[in-house]
Amino acid sequence: MLGRLVSSVRVCPYYTARNAINQTQMLTQQKVMQMPKRHWAQVGHVIVTPPRVKVSLLEKVLHSTVMFVVWLAPVMWFLSQVKINRLQYSQKMEETLDTITEKLKHSSISPNEQPVPDIVFHDTMNKDLLSKWPRFKNVVPDILLHKTIDFAQHVKEILRMNIKIYQPYLSTNYTKIPSYSIADFKAVQQYFDKNHLPYHTFSIPNEKKLRVTIRGLPKDLNLNELFEKLRSAKIPVKRVHKMKVKSFALEQAPLILAILPYNKEGLNILRVRKILGHDVTLEPPIKKLRQCHRCQKWGHAQRYCHGQLKCVKCAGDHYSTTCSRDRNSSEPPTCANCGGNHTANYRECFYCPDSEEYRQNRVKRLKYKTETPRFPRQLVTWENVDTNLYKRITNIPKHAEAIPF
Ligand SMILES: [Zn+2]
Ligand SMILES: [Zn+2]
Ligand SMILES: [Zn+2]
Repeated sequence: MLGRLVSSVRVCPYYTARNAINQTQMLTQQKVMQMPKRHWAQVGHVIVTPPRVKVSLLEKVLHSTVMFVVWLAPVMWFLSQVKINRLQYSQKMEETLDTITEKLKHSSISPNEQPVPDIVFHDTMNKDLLSKWPRFKNVVPDILLHKTIDFAQHVKEILRMNIKIYQPYLSTNYTKIPSYSIADFKAVQQYFDKNHLPYHTFSIPNEKKLRVTIRGLPKDLNLNELFEKLRSAKIPVKRVHKMKVKSFALEQAPLILAILPYNKEGLNILRVRKILGHDVTLEPPIKKLRQCHRCQKWGHAQRYCHGQLKCVKCAGDHYSTTCSRDRNSSEPPTCANCGGNHTANYRECFYCPDSEEYRQNRVKRLKYKTETPRFPRQLVTWENVDTNLYKRITNIPKHAEAIPF
């Protein structure tokens, strides 16, 4: 018996212990244990030593865990220590370098001492960094007439006013109207406003904003000072503010949002490397899914919306803040987009680009987009106004187009 106990000592401490317990139990209960036969290789070496104790699945799992802790954990710990050491070493080196430069600055041997500028630039623009922002398109924005209106009734009136527009696109939810120039764009808007037609549009090129988040500045940063320093470094910032963040780590090191005009001067901010002695990282802000607070449609902002006023809770024609319904009211909410029993900002509504159904339709939408031949843009004239030219009705599935392409 003792011999068997000793022979069970193997590499695995768990099985060893398990064997020992089992065999002691056998000894005390005076049972004879039927051992499985050993398989001997011809040269006399043991090639298979089956476990002495039947092991359940639970025990196998437990065993693997124990083995992991016993063998792998020390190795991992060792590796992490190496990493920490290396990090500490490089930090130390950096500190030493910093003190050396500091000392050099104050020493008399420095012949041409130069004051460190508040804003330090990279020599060239980093193309990879620049590509993180949407490309600037100097185009006249489209006007999207909301689909309760039949645009065909208004085309001739627009032509009569000598407004130049390109062939519109009719789709399930909108009529997309591209204008020839900014002046025509404004004229169409005026016409729509005068006739109380619901539409939305987007910012015009010289109103476009560049949004940049700045990471790496200290918590006690003075925003006014930052604004002044950026301005004096010829970076035309319009506003800077601290972003509201939930994470504690970010609260310690605030995230700054700078808003600039989207032009050559504004883009200069992407060359900034150091601000007031701090190394900074620049990133585009995380793009939020936009829903219009005025008409509740997805994909545009209230600022450029002239759509039908809709309430997020009851789909009534009033602002959501003035709605009489609240959480306690018995009536179910009504969606302003699909008419369903949910509020219009419900993320699973199939009009919301976040919803599963919308995502699935996106595939069909892209397929449609790639398969439809692209026609050159054509101006609407008196010659072609009565043809079907401006009626490119899209056959893509309903509600797959909450956001126009
Ligand atoms: Zn809107
Ligand atoms: Zn309401
Ligand atoms: Zn809905």
